[in-house]
Amino acid sequence: MADEGNGLFATALAQFNRGADLIELPDSIRSILSQPKNEIIVNFPVLMNTGEYQVFRGYRIQHSNIMGPYKGGVRFHQAVDLDEVKALASWMTWKSALCEIPFGGAKGGIAFSPRDVEPEELERIVRRFTHALGANIGPDHDIPAPDLGSNPQAMVWMMDTYANSTGATERQNVKRIVTGKTLETGGSPGRDKATGQGVMFCLQHWADETGFDLSSARAVIQGWGNVGGATGRILQVHGARVVAASDHLGAIADEDGIDAFDLTDWVGEHGTVSGFPNADWIEPADLWGVDADMVIPAALENQITADNAGQIKAKVVVEAANGPTTLEAEAILADRGIEVLPDILVNAGGVIVSYFEWLQNRSAQTWNLNDVDHKLRDILWKASDSICEIREELDIASRRDAAYAIALRRLKVVYEQRGIFP
Ligand code: NAD
Repeated sequence: MADEGNGLFATALAQFNRGADLIELPDSIRSILSQPKNEIIVNFPVLMNTGEYQVFRGYRIQHSNIMGPYKGGVRFHQAVDLDEVKALASWMTWKSALCEIPFGGAKGGIAFSPRDVEPEELERIVRRFTHALGANIGPDHDIPAPDLGSNPQAMVWMMDTYANSTGATERQNVKRIVTGKTLETGGSPGRDKATGQGVMFCLQHWADETGFDLSSARAVIQGWGNVGGATGRILQVHGARVVAASDHLGAIADEDGIDAFDLTDWVGEHGTVSGFPNADWIEPADLWGVDADMVIPAALENQITADNAGQIKAKVVVEAANGPTTLEAEAILADRGIEVLPDILVNAGGVIVSYFEWLQNRSAQTWNLNDVDHKLRDILWKASDSICEIREELDIASRRDAAYAIALRRLKVVYEQRGIFP
C-alpha cells in the first residue's frame, strides 16, 4: 500500500490496523478498507460580493458503502484537505458499523473559513458546492450532514439546491439528501443536540461500569460549538459542572462552575467564549491542566498531544471531537491510567440521529423527542455493552481497539458473505 505519510489519515490507518490485527482481518479485506472507494475533488467558482469570482476547493470522500449509503458530514474550515477528509470518512464507516446503523462512511469539506465570508456569500458557496457535487451525492447513495463550521442552515441550502436540480416529480422525495436540517424543513427532533446527548449516554454507561460519580464531576471542554455546547449543557442538567471551556479565540475557567446556558447565550451573541464575564481568562495551552475529572475535546483533531497529555489530571478523556488524541498522546494516557472513550463511539450520536432523520423523511413522519432520545440511548448503550464484552473476550484494555474490533468483525462478515462482484 502507498505510504500515507504522517498526517491524520496515517493516524486513522494505525488505529484501523490495530483493530484489524486483533480480529485477524484477512489481507484482502484489509486492503479494501485501507483506502476510500472514491475521492471526489471539485473546484468551483463563486460570485463574491466584490463582484469577482473566487474559486473554492471542495471534497467528498466516499470511504465505504458495503453496509449502506455513504454517510458523513461536511466541514467548513480553512485547514480542510484531502488527508483530513479521508481520515474523517473512514471513521464514519467504523462508527456506523459499531452502532449497527445501516450506513457506510463518507465525509466532505470546503477549504475556507465560514467566519470570513458574508452570509450571502456563504449561501452561494454552499449551493455551488452542492451543484458541483451533482450526482456524486444522492438520497440513497451519499447523504451529507453538518460538521465543524457548517450548520442546519447550510444543510437546508444543500437540500434546496439538490431538490431544484432534480425533476419536478422527484422534488418532494429527496429531502433525505441531507440530514441535520432545521426542524421546519424536515429535520429530526433532537438532531441539534444529538452528538452531545450521545456523549452523555456514553459517559453514563461508562460511569455505571466504573463506579464514577457523574453527578458531581467536573469537566473541561475544548470547543463550545454544536457538540461542546450541547455536551456542557446536558452535563450541567445532570449535576456535573464545566470548570473550563475554550474555543478558537481563547479559554476560560472557574472552579465553581461556568453556567453552560449563560455561556451558550454569550457565544451566540459574541461568537466566542472570550470575554465571558463570569469566569477567569486562562491561556488556551493551560486548558488541559485544569483540575477536573473529565476532559472533553470537542473541536479539532490532534489537540491532545505528547506535549500536553502529561498535564491532564482527569480520570477520563471523552473524545467528542473526531481524532482529538494523537497516537503518542494515547500511549501516554494509557501509561498514566487515564481512560479514553473513543470518538467512534462517543460522538456517534450525530450519525445515529441523522439515520433517524433519514428514516423519518423516507416515511414522511415526525417522531417525538422522547422516542429519539430513547432510541439513541438504546443504540449507544448496546454498543457500549459490546465494547465491554469484547474487551473481556480479547483481553484488551483499550476501548478504541475494542470498538474497532467490533466494527471490523461486522464488516468482515458482510464482505465474506457478499464477496466481490463480479
Ligand atoms: P462547531 O463548528 O459547531 O464548533 C467547533 C468549536 O471548536 C467552536 O467553538 C470553535 O471555536 C472551536 N475551535 C475551532 N478551532 C479551535 C481551536 N484551534 N482550539 C479550540 N477550539 C477551537 O463544530 P461541531 O459540529 O461542534 O464539531 C466539533 C467536533 O465534533 C469535530 O471534530 C466534529 O467532526 C465532531 N463531530 C461533530 C458532529 C456534529 O453532529 N456536529 C458529530 C460527530 C462529531
